[in-house]
Amino acid sequence: MASTPESNSNYSRRFVASPHSAGEGREGDVSETAQKPYSFVFDEAKDTWVCSVHGPVSWTGWVPCWNGCQDGYFDGYEEDPLWYDEGDMETCDICDGEGGWTVCGECAKDNPDVEW
Ligand SMILES: [Zn+2]
Ligand SMILES: [Zn+2]
Repeated sequence: MASTPESNSNYSRRFVASPHSAGEGREGDVSETAQKPYSFVFDEAKDTWVCSVHGPVSWTGWVPCWNGCQDGYFDGYEEDPLWYDEGDMETCDICDGEGGWTVCGECAKDNPDVEW
């Protein structure tokens, strides 16, 4: 009863906020450029697609939505007549009603799913 169980309460895990290191000035060498998120967006001002890897591209492909939607929509009634009325269309949340998406031609040149 009186014995205190051996616990790991002796381990005090301290998060030491990184102290001011003396070696300042050597930062900025973080490999941030290799980790930037990929994006492929349409630049309306330039009227062109811009790939975060290749920059402005004029060569684009089209990847049809893999979710099995019809041009971005599901016929709800066909999917589940109990929940949907005839003609109820559900927007596909994968392609957001687009039916697919435009991809950079350079990035997707080896992608067998792309329609050119
Ligand atoms: Zn879709
Ligand atoms: Zn690209």
